Amino acid sequence: MSDHYGHVRAEQIKSQGEDAEKEAADSEEQVASLPASPDPSSITATTGTDASSVLCKQRSRGHREPACCVKAAPDWPLRGPAALAPAVINLNNPGFERAFHVKGSGSLLHGTSETNGNYLINRGPQEQSQKRRPVTVDSSKAKTSLEALKMSIKQLKWKEFPLGRRAPCDIYWHGVSFHDNENIVSGQVNKFPGMVEMLRKINMSRAVRTMQELFPEEYDFYPRSWILPEEHQLFATQIRLIKEKDAAVNPTFIVKPDGGSQGDGIYLIRDPADVKLVVGSQAKQAVVQEYIPKPLLIDKLKFDIRLYVLIKSLEPLEIYIAKEGLTRFCTEPYQEPSQKNLSHVFMHLTNYSLNVHSGNFVHSDSQNTGSKRTLSSVLYRLAAKGVDIKRVWSDIIALVIKTVIAVVPELKVYYQADIPPGKPGPTCFQILGFDILLMKNLKPVLLEVNSNPSMRIEHEQEVSLQAPGLSRLPVLVLNLYVFQVAPGVFEFVPSPVDEEVKVGVIRDTLRLMDPFHKKPVMSYQDKSRGSEPREEIQTDAESGSRSPDENQPSLCLKQVYPKYTKQFNHLRLAERIASLFIRFLGVKGNMRLGPTAFRTFIRTCKLSSSNFTMASVDILYIDITRRWAAAAADSREAGMGLQAFVEAFFYLAGRRFRSLSLREQVVSLLALCEAQLGPQSEDRRSLSCSRAPPPRAVKTQTPCHTNSQLASPAPQRRAASQDNRPPQTLKPRMLRASVEN
Ligand code: ADP
Repeated sequence: MSDHYGHVRAEQIKSQGEDAEKEAADSEEQVASLPASPDPSSITATTGTDASSVLCKQRSRGHREPACCVKAAPDWPLRGPAALAPAVINLNNPGFERAFHVKGSGSLLHGTSETNGNYLINRGPQEQSQKRRPVTVDSSKAKTSLEALKMSIKQLKWKEFPLGRRAPCDIYWHGVSFHDNENIVSGQVNKFPGMVEMLRKINMSRAVRTMQELFPEEYDFYPRSWILPEEHQLFATQIRLIKEKDAAVNPTFIVKPDGGSQGDGIYLIRDPADVKLVVGSQAKQAVVQEYIPKPLLIDKLKFDIRLYVLIKSLEPLEIYIAKEGLTRFCTEPYQEPSQKNLSHVFMHLTNYSLNVHSGNFVHSDSQNTGSKRTLSSVLYRLAAKGVDIKRVWSDIIALVIKTVIAVVPELKVYYQADIPPGKPGPTCFQILGFDILLMKNLKPVLLEVNSNPSMRIEHEQEVSLQAPGLSRLPVLVLNLYVFQVAPGVFEFVPSPVDEEVKVGVIRDTLRLMDPFHKKPVMSYQDKSRGSEPREEIQTDAESGSRSPDENQPSLCLKQVYPKYTKQFNHLRLAERIASLFIRFLGVKGNMRLGPTAFRTFIRTCKLSSSNFTMASVDILYIDITRRWAAAAADSREAGMGLQAFVEAFFYLAGRRFRSLSLREQVVSLLALCEAQLGPQSEDRRSLSCSRAPPPRAVKTQTPCHTNSQLASPAPQRRAASQDNRPPQTLKPRMLRASVEN
């Protein structure tokens, strides 16, 4: 391995200390001496659904997360001299042919190691799958997903390293972000760099907004949103105009702090003047969003859906959806918003973390009752009432694919910055939590996507917070109240509903990421041909979810992309713009384009002319970059980010192809740029987000849409592009799409 790796290893050893080092050495030896199928009891197990697994934690004031709710396993099998072996086997020399004895078997095995540290023992094909070494998982950073992860590893008979390991593991499970452990140079990590940032409410709204501009009809599943504080004026003006036009209209809005989660800091308003803006540098970044006033109700209660989605790979894009999810119910009967009930959090917010503190919360002991139920139980119930649940499910799949397509461009920028091509690094995958609301008319609406969905499989018990009138407290006050009134010992008991869903999702994600089950490389053409006959999105439970191992039950995760490439590939326009952007970024690790790089882009793609000179190009760069810098005041890096580049690209497209719709303009300009750049742009793109297995030839060619009825959603920018005034006339992009009520 490279010097870099040597350095990283030294760092790891240092940080883990003597004990951990000894343990790692023990473990490595254990890898060589493990029987074909390790005894599941040899894997640390503090989990279980029996009463003995009731966990306790001391919750400190003001802290939501337990300091530690899992005891260190006393029976870790690799501790102690009995497990020690004299030599540490280095599994990391690529291609190094080795031989060593398998303890107790007397046989001599030969093998080769892969560059990612996997040691493959040469056996016959059948024997290979049966007697391979177990897949190794580093769970030392798993945090609150630890319990579910342990169960999954145990079910798969894989090998867990709860304290980390000196030698590389096949899979690293992080509780929060890619950067939970900076020293990973091989294997696979369950988080993508940049996902946390990308899915914050503002970034997410911006990414969807770009897609709404290009494909307004396709992206009407996200409520109309404004970014605060920068668009407060715009928000106030638009609402005033709406009310002036029709006095009977009195919409409600929901304000969500940018970095918030679990309902923290959320409140409802009817008047833009009620936004709690703090001026100056303390200005709170938030999203204000159209409130969906008529959600579908069950038992008179509002509920939302938590759906687990796996992004298995960015390049090629591979998306899986869990067939089972959760539904979270409010605990106060729903009424349409009125000035009187705006502060009733148990009526309007479905967050488990809030409703669990309501006196009406019912912990579910079966999967179809209580305040948290399985998605399937709700769908069955709807089906029994005559609802076309196939349609609902297919709409949900479409929503998920479109949302992922919206965030992938920026994710690719993060990816190449953190793991530039040529630098040793892991590959990534990630489970996301989609929060979806069904409207009364059954149309799914995206509320948000969580980069770090809770994978807890226990719930708190005995939180006696049933003070009268509590449900009417604003969320913020309620949260303070919770922590100040009940700072004592909290009990955790297993939650069968969470366990059923979450362990399945983690286990099957691991199965899909199993390094010993690499699928044969399949070209994009093969894949799309395979799915050609299916014009409609299938809802068949088995489709796309065949087990990677014939002996295992079918997966609870269903592949939806590239399976439905044909239906959705035309949406991947922003990704092609991102490929151009990445190509001109230049310096490894960079996420912003400097003025020289922007000029190079214009020159290389031959976009300047006598009436769009390089001086105008510079003005365009300065104008857009300044505006975006003001919008993202906390950004440390100077230059033009992807979202600003997309805006510049739209502007350039508008100038060049004036008579077309925005989408047609963008498609035409992309074709022009890609033609100038030649095949390199494709190569660079596939390099940017894939490692082993080798990049597959996936093209994101987008058919040119010529539907003249699709009017540009950016009339202001287009108008600006039709004259030769300097680009200072550009206005912030306007949002066109809205959600049906
Ligand atoms: P958080 O990350 O704090 O949970 P969410 O965006 O998920 O923020 O919003 C919290 C809850 O508020 C949701 O679970 C849902 O019940 C409700 N909610 C959010 N947005 C809307 C909306 N646009 N219309 C109706 N209800 C909403």
